[in-house]
Amino acid sequence: MTPRSRKPQPAPTFWRNIRIAFLLLLLAIAAYSNWYDRWSTTDWDETLWVGVFPIDADGGRGTASWLAQLSQEDVSAIEEFLNAEAHRHGVGIERPVRVDLYPQVSERPPEVDPDSSLLSRAAASLRLRLYARRNSHPPGRAPPQIRIFVLFHDPGFTKSVPHSVGLQKGLVGVVHAFAANDMTPTNNVVIAHEILHTLGASDKYDPATLEPYYPIGYAEPDRQPLVPQTLTEIMAGRYVAGPGKFEMPDSLRDVRVGHATALEINWPKP
Ligand SMILES: [Zn+2]
Repeated sequence: MTPRSRKPQPAPTFWRNIRIAFLLLLLAIAAYSNWYDRWSTTDWDETLWVGVFPIDADGGRGTASWLAQLSQEDVSAIEEFLNAEAHRHGVGIERPVRVDLYPQVSERPPEVDPDSSLLSRAAASLRLRLYARRNSHPPGRAPPQIRIFVLFHDPGFTKSVPHSVGLQKGLVGVVHAFAANDMTPTNNVVIAHEILHTLGASDKYDPATLEPYYPIGYAEPDRQPLVPQTLTEIMAGRYVAGPGKFEMPDSLRDVRVGHATALEINWPKP
């Protein structure tokens, strides 16, 4: 009797090649989708649609009843600001940006810690993209291109809130805001800042001191004397009110999109 021979096995390199080809395909799809998002949100030839999704951050009775009276009017200043600045920087269409308030979302977004390792940040950003996909299609409403989830905290028992984030990869932002009418103008400054992050704008302040960078973080870099400034560059988030004194603006009326930010988001006249 002849010895039994084993069935020929496919060479291990075959399966390794298949695995590598599959990973390369996934990377190519991700690169294409990031490129497409960037191109389609910064070509400025049709209205860019932004959705604001409110979330009750603390479950208190005060926040719930405050959220119930939140209306489209509360976010209209964001659209007015972005459109006025887009026109000033040479965007030709009548309504470059549309900002809509969407129904409340009950699921809270996953946390993204900007100080964690590259790998855990990549995993967190993937979780956030999946979260945004799950939660931005309310019945009867078309999903917007850019999704901003706003966690409203009761100022009665939350004095300071975590950092807000805006990710260009995935076109999604998470904003921490205060559930109070007199905080709406400053909440809107933070929401506008994160919207511009999703379009590719970068921060223009020193994270250690919060000092706006000169000249790119100044709304009036040519002002004489330079300090005090009265207007805020949106991606600097604060203006220099005096030597070593950096203040947040009261509302978007005192905020501008500076040259460097306009260049980053592809506005025609930076
Ligand atoms: Zn920022």
